[in-house]
Amino acid sequence: MARALPPDCTSQDWGITYAELERQFDRFEQVYGIGGAAGNLNGQILAGGNPFEGPRSRDYPNPPMKESHAGALFSHAARSLGFRPFPMPSATMTRAYTNSYGLTMGPCVYCGYCAPFGCEMGAKASPQTAVLPALLASPNYELRTLANVVRVNLDSDRRRAVSVTYVDSRGREVEQPAELVLLTSFTFNNVRQMLLSGIGTPYDPVTNRGVVGRNYAYQCSSGVTAFFEDKVFNSFMGSGGLGRVIDDYNGDNFDHAGLGFIGGGFISAASLGSRPIVSHPVPAGTPTWGSAWKRAVAHYSDRSMSIGVGGAVQSYRTNYLDLDPTYRDAFGLPLVRMTFDFHENERRMSDFLTGRCEEIAKALGPSKIDANRHRGRYSIVPYQSTHNTGGAVMGADPATSAVNKYLQSWDVPNVFVIGASAFPQNAGYNPTGTVGALTYWAADAIKNHYLNSPGPLVT
Ligand SMILES: Cc1cc2nc3c(=O)[nH]c(=O)nc-3n(C[C@H](O)[C@H](O)[C@H](O)COP(=O)(O)OP(=O)(O)OC[C@H]3O[C@@H](n4cnc5c(N)ncnc54)[C@H](O)[C@@H]3O)c2cc1C
Ligand code: SF4
Repeated sequence: MARALPPDCTSQDWGITYAELERQFDRFEQVYGIGGAAGNLNGQILAGGNPFEGPRSRDYPNPPMKESHAGALFSHAARSLGFRPFPMPSATMTRAYTNSYGLTMGPCVYCGYCAPFGCEMGAKASPQTAVLPALLASPNYELRTLANVVRVNLDSDRRRAVSVTYVDSRGREVEQPAELVLLTSFTFNNVRQMLLSGIGTPYDPVTNRGVVGRNYAYQCSSGVTAFFEDKVFNSFMGSGGLGRVIDDYNGDNFDHAGLGFIGGGFISAASLGSRPIVSHPVPAGTPTWGSAWKRAVAHYSDRSMSIGVGGAVQSYRTNYLDLDPTYRDAFGLPLVRMTFDFHENERRMSDFLTGRCEEIAKALGPSKIDANRHRGRYSIVPYQSTHNTGGAVMGADPATSAVNKYLQSWDVPNVFVIGASAFPQNAGYNPTGTVGALTYWAADAIKNHYLNSPGPLVT
């Protein structure tokens, strides 16, 4: 295995097992009303679900989303090639759902205006719909909005957080005393807060020492668009999590012998809803303006479908986060700086997985297929994914991780750093289910262990 690792790869163990986390995945799914089909219930493989998933103790609380035309075609083609398609699990409600906090979310109507918008049906699960209304009713909970945290203040020996400084909406600096601090401000800002506050040793890529900023990773997206003359998709309908997916080429689910890379990804046909203006797929070679372009847009905008890859990215010594030496925010504090590029391992993986997408697309009989492979260097310009991971990774060794398996800072034990910043590398899956499970896991450890005896939970 060691020989298979690409040069400079710093991917590492999580310091925790799936079995330890399973109960927390289940809690997250129940609170957030996830819709899906179980593929492995207590070790029994079930038809219709993901046969590769770890054993789960319960089914999803809601049924899967409906099947779109693109999803049905994908499933049919994938099955004909021997793959095992299943419905993409989704945090958009597939029916009206009341969770254990007594909060009700409405059913999704597949309106197609999903990903960057609020939901007119209250059908998207998020802290705002699934948790906060219950918390706000609690007398010992206070939500302070527009409070921009700029620093966690430590005591003189830098082993204990004593307060948090934030700037409120009127520009006033407020110091809030704290017994316990949870950094939950997304991957980048978690790492930035740690660096600005002096929590843990900053990562140095030259010596490969230090941990805060280490193992930043991203997701490796690619895919194909298939164009048809004889199929219409009604793609104005859709939903953020509507799709069919295969896991046959993820992680270790397939034989990597001779392929020259490690890792993998999920392959899916998603029907997110093609919005006007923003969505106008045309085959490669179409003029980029004028009447020929207009004709192609009119013809193909509803006669095309995409098959995409959400691919893993390993961690590398050369990919990291640190404080920017030049750029500062409105408070004069350094911004976080991201140093990142895809490596040969990811390019090979992407090539291979995109080839599998092409195979599935060909089985559908399109008139044209365009492949979008990873070539050249990483560019921040086109939208690829919001799935950023690492920088304050969890693990069993303080020399290579910023937080222990309970997401507790090794250096300042009354600070917990929660989020995908804890992922040691980016797996070939979307992150939020794991973020949710880790959050419950850390909260349990705080409630059941830390509060009884404040101090390091792992020594
Ligand atoms: C368009 C889009 C589509 C996505 N689709 C998917 C998907 O299909 N599947 C999936 O798994 N994931 C998806 N994600 C990613 C998902 O949203 C994140 O994984 C998830 O929200 C991370 O949760 P978090 O609590 O760690 O951070 P966040 O949800 O980002 O919450 C961080 C909070 O911290 C606050 N904050 C930040 N800085 C400060 C500060 N200095 N002071 C005070 N507060 C601060 C922010 O305002 C925010 O409320 C998507 C994201 C986007 C934007
Ligand atoms: S598609 Fe998205 S925005 Fe529209 S109803 Fe469903 S969850 Fe809400």
